Amino acid sequence: MTAPTEAVRERVLDLSADGLPAYLYDLDALRAHASAVRAALPERVELYYAAKANPEPAVLGALAPLVDGFEVASGGELAHVATAVPDRPLAFGGPGKTPAEVTAALAGAAAGGPVPRFHVESAHELRMLAALAARTAPGVRVPVLTRFNLAVAEDALTGGSLTMGGGPSPFGIDPAEADAVLGLLTGGAFPQLEWWGTHAHLVSGLDAGTLASVAREVVRWSTALADGHRVRLREVNVGGGMAVDYARPEVRFDWTAYGTALAALLAEHPGLTLRVEPGRALTAYCGWYATEVLDVKHSHGEDFAVVRGGTHHLRTPATKGHDQPCTVLPVGPWPHPWPRPAAGRGPVTLVGQLCTPKDVLARRVPAAGLRAGDRVVFQMAGAYAWNISHHEFLMHPRPDFHFLGADGSPVAAAPRAAGAG
Ligand SMILES: *Cc1c(COP(=O)(O)O)cnc(C)c1O
Repeated sequence: MTAPTEAVRERVLDLSADGLPAYLYDLDALRAHASAVRAALPERVELYYAAKANPEPAVLGALAPLVDGFEVASGGELAHVATAVPDRPLAFGGPGKTPAEVTAALAGAAAGGPVPRFHVESAHELRMLAALAARTAPGVRVPVLTRFNLAVAEDALTGGSLTMGGGPSPFGIDPAEADAVLGLLTGGAFPQLEWWGTHAHLVSGLDAGTLASVAREVVRWSTALADGHRVRLREVNVGGGMAVDYARPEVRFDWTAYGTALAALLAEHPGLTLRVEPGRALTAYCGWYATEVLDVKHSHGEDFAVVRGGTHHLRTPATKGHDQPCTVLPVGPWPHPWPRPAAGRGPVTLVGQLCTPKDVLARRVPAAGLRAGDRVVFQMAGAYAWNISHHEFLMHPRPDFHFLGADGSPVAAAPRAAGAG
């Protein structure tokens, strides 16, 4: 279900027009979805949430009891997640880690906090990590997963014609350097660093069968690497990227099929732990961006509805090039003495308030008769939505945030002060 839940629908209709646009999250729906994902995965698959998809503290808090840990991709995310959900296992990934970020991650461990797993992206980063660990956290054992940019064989894919990872990219270590990097880790030069395994986040948007085939390839390659160096492969993180289909909101990634395939893979590798780190597929479905139609116009044969806010609040359709799925909630009597602007019988293009033709939320929506004053709720706005958007552009008021279903009861969020993150 991506159409607004009952709690979201009620709240949207309760809000005054000046309370829009607003972001609404249904934390009960999020918890139910995350529980189902967790239940579909075998025990030896750890579920981490990639915080960059949506780092709202209420979202992190709702997920914390249901996931095994969090993947962070910057020092800022590391500090934020450590504060929002203290003492949860962390994996610290991302290309281009600065010395200050690595030092901060190690300092927490030196102070007795959990030691994050480091997803190391290059030989240089490995050397920096070793040097900073010796200086900042002497005596702390640092688990390392080396991220590789593997060329996944096309015959591993059951899904057809997708060309997978393995091309030139700034992410991870080229497989041609794998032996040299593993030699650094196993040769005794970096006594604090322990190689625990590999990390590969190669693609996104794959269905369960194809993604499971990729995982199988990654495990096969990683096992051969570990065997070649006579070291134990403890963990393989096969990444996130589970498909979210904005054109077909009712079609969901098949976690049961994925879990079944990973269980079969694990049966062949006793002692191995797999980890997945989805972002989008966990939180996309539990967030909505609700707004009000300000005006409707007929222009050269097409209808346009201008809504409060726009792609500076919900950038997802602009970055992904899709139409954000939405639901219209009709609103009753028109308070003005002049005629109410309304669309005709054809489709309506929903745009925001920005002075750019790129500010399109959804094209040619079947919303015959849509009127000024009606409310529109954009679905699938729980991931890569507010936090990837260019909020400052045109200086509109920031949306309010409503987190529904916290502790079973609706909770009103404090309105965001202008300038707050
Ligand atoms: C962004 C990212 C993820 C999450 O990807 P989704 O498509 O949101 O599932 C996981 N791992 C890494 C390394 C990432 O960069």
